[in-house]
Amino acid sequence: MDLKQYITIVDNWPKEGIKFKDITTLMDNGEAFHYATDQIVEYAREKEIDLIVGPEARGFIIGCPVAYALGIGFAPVRKEGKLPRETIKAEYGKEYGKDLLTIHKDAIKPGQRVLITDDLLATGGTIQATIELVEKLGGVVAGIAFLIELTYLNGREKIDNYDLLSLMKY
Ligand code: 5GP
Repeated sequence: MDLKQYITIVDNWPKEGIKFKDITTLMDNGEAFHYATDQIVEYAREKEIDLIVGPEARGFIIGCPVAYALGIGFAPVRKEGKLPRETIKAEYGKEYGKDLLTIHKDAIKPGQRVLITDDLLATGGTIQATIELVEKLGGVVAGIAFLIELTYLNGREKIDNYDLLSLMKY
């Protein structure tokens, strides 16, 4: 299935010059969403994944159906101040200054094989911070899966020690 036909490119959003890849038109198509999810489920099976970890918010949308299909857990990575119990933090660079991602301290058991999911790889900052969190807790990042990779931003270079699946490239 050609998944790109379900992505809507929105010019100049959220600001001038950006061509935003809107995945909601893939998500709201049952067949396309099912197909995309199945590709990631297959990949997770190959990598013998124990746990899915995804950053808010679209990492949840991609990761949760994969976890459900495999009968394994999902651990959320969230912005600071959102998780109710003890967390660890990782900083990541944004266009204007820095931001913090957090995960519950007990979310991962040491040695668990983790698949990180998100909708899109751009500069790689979000995923780098997520990897840091997983590894701090003793998890093994056995794979990283995206719907979309923006190859022209070279995010892959930041994470080239890791196995990476992207279903669509722009
Ligand atoms: P990075 O940290 O790799 O620069 O940015 C990736 C994050 O920004 C992802 O979590 C993704 O949700 C969001 N993002 C950046 N650009 C786009 C886009 O064009 N479409 C979508 N759906 N998300 C984007």
